[in-house]
Amino acid sequence: MGTPRLLLVHAHPDDESLWTGGLTARHVDAGGEADLVMCTWAEGTVRHRELTDAVGILGMPRPPIMLGYADDRRPESAPDAPRLCAASFDEQVRALTAHIRELQPDIVVTYDALGIYGHPDHVHAHRLACAAADAAASTKLYHRAGPAWRVRSLYFATIPEWMMDLLAPSLFPEIPRDQLPGTPDSEIDVTVDVSDLAARKKAGVTAHRSEVDRSRAIAGFLSLPDDVQHKLLSVECYQRRDLVPGGCELI
Ligand SMILES: [Zn+2]
Repeated sequence: MGTPRLLLVHAHPDDESLWTGGLTARHVDAGGEADLVMCTWAEGTVRHRELTDAVGILGMPRPPIMLGYADDRRPESAPDAPRLCAASFDEQVRALTAHIRELQPDIVVTYDALGIYGHPDHVHAHRLACAAADAAASTKLYHRAGPAWRVRSLYFATIPEWMMDLLAPSLFPEIPRDQLPGTPDSEIDVTVDVSDLAARKKAGVTAHRSEVDRSRAIAGFLSLPDDVQHKLLSVECYQRRDLVPGGCELI
C-alpha cells in the first residue's frame, strides 16, 4: 500500500496545531494526504478564518471541514446551531461516517479518552471519532452514507506527564499537581519527534490570533522562555488503537 491517508478530528480551532500540528506537517511534507474535520465553530466566523490560515501553514492541501456545532462555552461560535455535546450523537456519527467513507483515511487522529485534559468538547470528539470509525466499516449501518470503509488505526493525542510537569508551575500554579492531567510514559504508544517542525507548529498556533488574545493558557505558553517552548513544541505523544490486525504506522 502507498502512503497512509490521515483524517484529524478536532473539537476547536487551535487544537489541530497545538496537539497534532507537527504530525500533520510531517505527514503532508512526506507527500501524504491529510484532512481535518472541525466539530465546533461555524464557517464565516473569525475562528474559522484563523483556522483556514493555520491549516495552510501546516501544509494541508484542502480547507477544514466544519461540522458547525457550537463550542460548549462559546455560544457565539455557531449562533444558529446546538452545542456539540447537546446535539444528536447519532446525527453526528452519521455525518462523520459519511466524511470517513468519502475521504477513506487509513488513520484517524483525535484526542485521548480524557480529551487530553477533560474539556467536554474534546471528550465528545474522541467518542464521536471512535464511533464513526467503527460505523464506517459496517456495510449495514448508515448505508446511504457511502460504501463501507475500514479505518486501520486510531491515534489519540495525549499530554505526557513530563510535559505537564514543565507547564504546571507557570500556567496552573493554583492547581495541585495531582489534579492536573498527564499520561505516564508507560501508557504512551507513539512519541513523534517534530523538533524540526516546531517553528511551523508555533506559527500554526499563533495564526489563531483571537485565541492568543483571549486564552490565558495560550498566552501563558507563549510567555514561557523560548527553550521551554521549543521543548514543548518538539514532541507529540499518542496512544494507538488498531482496528484491523497490524494497524497502520505513521510516516
Ligand atoms: Zn480545544
